Parts: sequence; structure tokens; C-alpha cells
Amino acid sequence: MSNLNRRTFISQVSAAAVVTGLSSFPFISRANSSKDDKKLGIALIGLGSYAVGQLMPALEKTEHVKLVGLVTGTPDKAKRYGAKYNIPEKNIYNYQNFDTIASNPDIDVVYIVLPNSMHKEFTLRAAKAGKHVICEKPMAMNAGECRDMIDGCKKAGVSLSIGYRLHYEPYTQRIMQMAKEQPYGKVLYVHAADGFRMMRPTDQWRAKSPLGGGALMDMGVYALQAARLSTGLEPVSVSGQMFNSDPTVFEGVDESTSFQLEFPGNAVANCFASFGGNVNFLNINAEKGEYGLRPFMNYNGLHGFLPRGETFDFPVMNQQAAQMDGMCLSIMEKKPSITTGEEGLRDMIIIDAIRESVSKGGKKIML
Ligand code: NDP
Repeated sequence: MSNLNRRTFISQVSAAAVVTGLSSFPFISRANSSKDDKKLGIALIGLGSYAVGQLMPALEKTEHVKLVGLVTGTPDKAKRYGAKYNIPEKNIYNYQNFDTIASNPDIDVVYIVLPNSMHKEFTLRAAKAGKHVICEKPMAMNAGECRDMIDGCKKAGVSLSIGYRLHYEPYTQRIMQMAKEQPYGKVLYVHAADGFRMMRPTDQWRAKSPLGGGALMDMGVYALQAARLSTGLEPVSVSGQMFNSDPTVFEGVDESTSFQLEFPGNAVANCFASFGGNVNFLNINAEKGEYGLRPFMNYNGLHGFLPRGETFDFPVMNQQAAQMDGMCLSIMEKKPSITTGEEGLRDMIIIDAIRESVSKGGKKIML
């Protein structure tokens, strides 16, 4: 894609989100008026640490959606979580028979919580089965896959949302509000970093290239989102550098990535994502002082700081419950969610450009 086309596309996808075939959603009617029957039914695909540790418990707290189905390649998990969450056997699928979910009226939405290389395939299969889709971040392996996923969901008349949980929690919402209102003047410089020290040796898919691993894909999305949300702008150029201290552990993927973004009006962001160490902060320098979040992307325990030593905090909440409720409410109201496939695509266009920069020795790539 040429620079002009890529740039035009990033700004146009915002507008496109508003018209993404939403008027053609099959409306899910709930004849029975009891509170539970008004909830959408969701099936989780891929019962790994995020699905089991965060999403299943969150679904015990949601108002607009309930856990009714499981899709897993591990029979033992089917048995264990089926029993724990009272899931009828007819609502439990594996990766081979997944497509028969089309004839299951209990399941309105599927939530894809698989390794990144599997997001596109299962989004398209779910859409073909007539199910609304929530897909985890990063949306896919590259921007081309994201476009196929958006097209597939549009054609099938189902909604597509990306698991950007932080859009649904108040600290990030406050940072987004500040980008609009500029209480400390124009944002000049953003510094965002997130990472954790991955166990070594590891057999994690996150450390393997064909499965969509790497620090940029896994952690970089948060720093990239933080930079975009705290400026409220789309970058005009990117550059990137990747680091790998042990290619026998990180097979063809980055252990750490630094990337820089330039925004219209000269704001600059410096971002870092890593499997090498624990780091988690968002610093925003504006004309009249520095503010931000530290940490900025945890499930809880976020903390906000403002110029002159002031701080801000919000009551503890369940981000994943708020996210799934928000997405399912928009499905019921036939509206786009606040984290559409187009938002995932926007990130992936920038990630592709960061990779292009790395392959060119860190050269600045115009978007
Ligand atoms: P895990 O490795 O813990 O789980 C992935 C699951 O996918 C496995 O348990 C397995 O489930 C299934 N699977 C199918 N094929 C494979 C394969 N070839 N290799 C490995 N697993 C396979 O990953 P996570 O739960 O941590 O991450 C899953 C997705 O969720 C990723 O896209 C990740 O980026 C995203 N994520 C998002 C977070 C957020 O805060 N939004 C936080 C953490 C992750 P089964 O045995 O049931 O088949």
C-alpha cells in the first residue's frame, strides 16, 4: 500500500466503523422476559489462561451476556469447565466440529481467545455460522487478515469487536477525555512501556513466529493504543527497532521492540514492549505538565497521576465484565461497539509499518 493510501485508510476507517453493515444484524429477539433470558449467550473459543483466568470469572458478573458454550481442543478442559459452569454437552465444541455451532440457537456470540495466528480463521468460521464475533487483540497477523475479517463479518451481517478491554475502564477513558479537553495544554510527548519477564526456556506460542508471537504483537498493542488514545491522533510516521537476546528462546520473534510515532502537530511517542522485564507505565507530557497512569494496562490496580503531585483513582471494577457487557449491549442495540474491527485494523496497519521499518534498519516509514 502506498504511503498516501495507508494514511488515508487509517483516517477513513473511523468513519467506516459507523456504517459496517450494522443495520443488517440479525436481531436477537428474546421472547421470555426474565432477566437471564435477556442476556446474549456467549461461547469462548480456546480455554487458555485468559479465557479461564479472566473471562470465565467475569462472565459470572455480566449483566447482558452469559457463558453458554465452550470450544476447546482439549477434552479434559471440556469436561472440567463444562461441569464448573454448567454448560450442556450440546454446547461444547472442538475445532473440527465448530462449524455446526451455526444450528445452535443458544449461542449468539463467540469470543476468540486463541493464539493470534488462529484469529482470522475462527472469525471467518464464526461469521459464516451467523454468530457475532469478539476477537482478542492483536486482531490478526497483519492488516490484510484484518481486512478479510471485517469483510467476512460485514458480508455475514454480524458484528466484530476486538478485545481492547481498556476502552471500557475509567482510567483509560479519563486519558482519552484529557486528549480531547487538553486541561494541561497540547500533548507534546508520550512515553509508554509495557512488558513482563517471560519464563525461560518457554514452550509458549508467544515466543514462536508462526503462531503470531513476539513482544510487539503481544504487548506492543497496549503501548500503541496508549499513544493513540492519549494524543487522540493517528500517527503520520513510525520507526522501530527489535531486540532478541536469545533466538533459541524467541524463535524468529522479537523479545523486545522499541518504536516511535510522530503525530500531526509534532507530538511524538516513544513506545516499548518486552518479554524481557516487568515494565508498565504511560507518561504524557503536555505544555503545562506531566500526567499519566502507572501502571496503565493491568487488570486492576491502575493509578493516575497529574501535574503538581496530584493523583486520581477509581473504584475497583471488572474490566472484562464491562467490556463484554458493553460489546453485547451494542449488539442488542444494533450499534457498533466502541472497539470495532476497524480499530483493530488501524493498529495492525501501524504494526505492519513498524515491521517494515525494522526490516529497513529502523528507517522512518510514512503512513
Ligand atoms: P494461552 O496459551 O493461555 O491459551 C490459548 C489457548 O488456545 C490454549 O489453551 C488452547 O486452548 C488454544 N489453542 C489452540 N491451538 C493452540 C496452539 N497451537 N497453541 C497454543 N494454544 C492453542 O493464551 P492466552 O489465553 O494468554 O491468549 C489467548 C489470546 O488472548 C491471545 O490472542 C492473546 O493476545 C489474548 N490475550 C488478551 C489479553 C487481554 O488483556 N486482552 C490478556 C491475555 C491474552 P484449548 O486447550 O482449549 O484448545
